[in-house]
Amino acid sequence: MSPLLTAALLAVALGLFGWTMFRRLAPLRALRREDRLSRTGERVRTLLRFGLGQSRLVDPEERGPGILHVLVFVAFVVLALRTITLFGMGFSEAFHLPLLAEEAPLGRAYLFVKDLVVLGALVGVAGFLWRRLVTKPDRVTRSAEGLVILLLIAGLMVTDVLFDGARLLGRGSAGSLAEPAGSLGRALLAPLAPGSAEAVGLAAFWLHLVIILAFLNVLPYGKHFHIITSLPNVFFARLPPTGALAKLDLEAEDARFGTATVKDLSWKEAWDVYSCTECGRCQTHCPTYVTGKPLSHKEVNRTIRRHLGEVAPTLVALASAKDAAAREPLQAKLPPITDVIPPETFWACTTCGWCETACPVLIENIPRLVDMRRQAVLVDSSFPDEAARVFKNIETQGNPWGIGSNKRTDWCADLDIPRASAGEPFEWLFFVGCAGAFDDRQKKVSRAIVSILREAKVSFAILGEEETCNGEAARRLGNEYLFQLQAQANVDTLNGLGVKKILVQCPHCLNTIKNELPQLGGNYEVVHHAELIASLVAEGRLAPGAAAGLEDVTFHDPCYLARWNGIVDAPRAALGAVKGLRVLEMERSGRQGFCCGAGGGRFWLEEKLGTRVNQERVNEAAARLGEKGGVIATGCPFCLTMMKDGVNETGREDRVRVLDVAEIVAAGLAGARAGGAAGGSVPAGTPAADEAEG
Ligand code: SF4
Ligand code: SF4
Repeated sequence: MSPLLTAALLAVALGLFGWTMFRRLAPLRALRREDRLSRTGERVRTLLRFGLGQSRLVDPEERGPGILHVLVFVAFVVLALRTITLFGMGFSEAFHLPLLAEEAPLGRAYLFVKDLVVLGALVGVAGFLWRRLVTKPDRVTRSAEGLVILLLIAGLMVTDVLFDGARLLGRGSAGSLAEPAGSLGRALLAPLAPGSAEAVGLAAFWLHLVIILAFLNVLPYGKHFHIITSLPNVFFARLPPTGALAKLDLEAEDARFGTATVKDLSWKEAWDVYSCTECGRCQTHCPTYVTGKPLSHKEVNRTIRRHLGEVAPTLVALASAKDAAAREPLQAKLPPITDVIPPETFWACTTCGWCETACPVLIENIPRLVDMRRQAVLVDSSFPDEAARVFKNIETQGNPWGIGSNKRTDWCADLDIPRASAGEPFEWLFFVGCAGAFDDRQKKVSRAIVSILREAKVSFAILGEEETCNGEAARRLGNEYLFQLQAQANVDTLNGLGVKKILVQCPHCLNTIKNELPQLGGNYEVVHHAELIASLVAEGRLAPGAAAGLEDVTFHDPCYLARWNGIVDAPRAALGAVKGLRVLEMERSGRQGFCCGAGGGRFWLEEKLGTRVNQERVNEAAARLGEKGGVIATGCPFCLTMMKDGVNETGREDRVRVLDVAEIVAAGLAGARAGGAAGGSVPAGTPAADEAEG
C-alpha cells in the first residue's frame, strides 16, 4: 500500500470533483428561492420510504428492472463503509473502521453482507446490460453513457471480488460461505502462481480505488448525476397536499407571474432535472405521450438540463450581479422559455399526475409546466382561443360555460333545496359546482345526489346563486389572477356563512376547495359524494337494492379523486352496495388509473394532435367489460363527458353506458323501493333511466 499514492489520488480526484460540483451547482444560486426544509419529520419519512426504501422501483408493473436497481442501489449503500476502509488501507494496510475489524463479530457480519450485495450488484448489472443490449425497452434512453456507467459498476464489483480472493489465498484460507464473493475470487485466482495472485489482488485494489474516483468524476456530467442528487431530491420533494399548485403573490413588489426564462425556475426545479434518471417510467401511462402529443416528462427534464448547462455562465454572472443595472443585460441574454420548451408541450399536459406518481425520485413536473402557462397567460397574452373564452365566461358569468349566472339553480327549481344562510343549521354545504349546475348531463347527477341525501335524511343546503366557479380550470390554464378572484369570492361566502363541511360532486372542486382554498383562508372538511355515500351505506342509512339493467361495471378513477386525493375505495364501496352489480377492475385503476384527457383545463381546449385520450381510455374500459358491454362508472363531470364522448366516437353506444356512481346508487335505491332487494324496474325519470334513454 502507498500512503503517498492514495493521498495523491484522493487530492486530484476530490479536487476535480469539487470543482465540477461547484460548476454544476453554481447556476442554482441565480434561481428562485424556495423553502424545502420545513416539516423535516415528514421529509425524513419520505426519504426513508421513497429514497432508501426504493418503494416506487418495485411496483408490480416494473418489478423486474426495479429489483435490478435495488440490487445495485443496496450495493452502493453497503459498500460506502467498504470504500472508506479501502482508502484507509491505502494509507495503512491494517486500517479498519471501529468495530469492523475482520476478526470482530461485526466485521465478519459486515463482510458477509458486503459479499452478498457485491454478488447482487453483479446480477443487477448483468440484468441491466441484458435490457440495454437485448430487450431494449422503449422507455429507456439508450446511450453510451449508460453502458460506461454499468461497466464501471461491474469493474468495482469485480475488483472487490479479486482483491478479497487474493487476500484469502494469501492467508491460506480455503474460503467459506461466510465470504461468498471473496471465496469466488479465491477460486478464480487459485490456479495462478502465488506471486501472480498477489499481484492481481494488488492491481485490483488500486484499480478499485481509481474506478471509484473516476466514477465520482464522471457522474456530474450526465444523467447519472442522479446517483448524487436523487436522495436529496426525495428529501426536498413537495409534501402533501401535492395536488395543490403554489399560490403566486400577485401583489408583491417583486411579483413573479410565471416562468419567462430558465432563471424563473426555482433551485428545486433545477435540482429535479439534475435528478432525472431518464428511466421513462413517467411516460409509460402519460395520456399525452401515449396518444402522440409532444410532451414527455423525461424529455422536458433533459431539455431543461441541457439548457441550464448552456446558459450556466450567464446564470453564474447573474447570481453575482449587484444591482438591477447589472442584472438587466444578463437577463436579456437568456432566451424565452418558449424557445426551450415549446408551447404545444406545456399546453398538452392534463395535470393528471401519472408522471409524478411514477417517478422513483419524486421529480415534479406539473408546477413547472403550469408556471410556463402562467407566463403565457398573465404576461405574454399568448394562449389558445378556447382558453380565452373560458376565462371570459368565468369572469362574466361565474362559470366556464358562460351560461347566465342567474340560471345556476335551474337544475333544482322543483326540488325545494334549502339555501345556506348564516344562523340556519345544516350539516353539509353541497357545493354543486359549475358542471353540476349548468351541464345538462351532470344536472342529472346533481339530482341523483339530492335524492340520495334525502333518502338518508342528511341535512344539507346549497349556496344557490351565491355559488360561483372556484377557478380550478382557470388556475390550471395559467390564469392565476382569475383563480384567486374566484377562489377568494367563494372563501368569503363560505366563511361568511360559517361553513365547516362541504360535499362536492367534482374531484376538481374537491381538490381546489380542500387543498387550495386554505391558501386564501378557507379551511373546510371536504368530501366527495362517493365518500359520503359509502359512509351512509356503512352506517346503514342507505340500503340500495338492484339497479335494473345494470350488471357489469368498471370504475374509471378520476385523477383528481384517486391520484391526487387518494380516494380509491369509497367509489368501489358505493358501487359494491348496489345489489347484483359486478365491479370489474381495469388494469390501470386506482392511483394508477389512466386519465380521460380532461384535466388541467384540457377539457376546454381542442385536442388537435395525436389520437384522442378519451378513446384510449374507453377502449381499455370496453375491453374490460367484454363483448356483452356494461357500464363505465365514474365520479367526475368531466370524466363523464369524456367517457361518453369516447363511447360515441368509438361506436359503442349500443353496449356501453357511462354513469356516475351517484346515479347507479340512486337507481339501486329506486330498485329497492320498487321491488325490494331482488331488484325492480328503475322508475321512469330516475337518472339511470334517463341516461339509458340517451
Ligand atoms: S422524470 Fe422520473 S420517471 Fe421520468 S425519466 Fe426522469 S426519473 Fe424517470
Ligand atoms: S401530468 Fe399527466 S399529462 Fe401531464 S406530463 Fe404528467 S402524465 Fe403526462
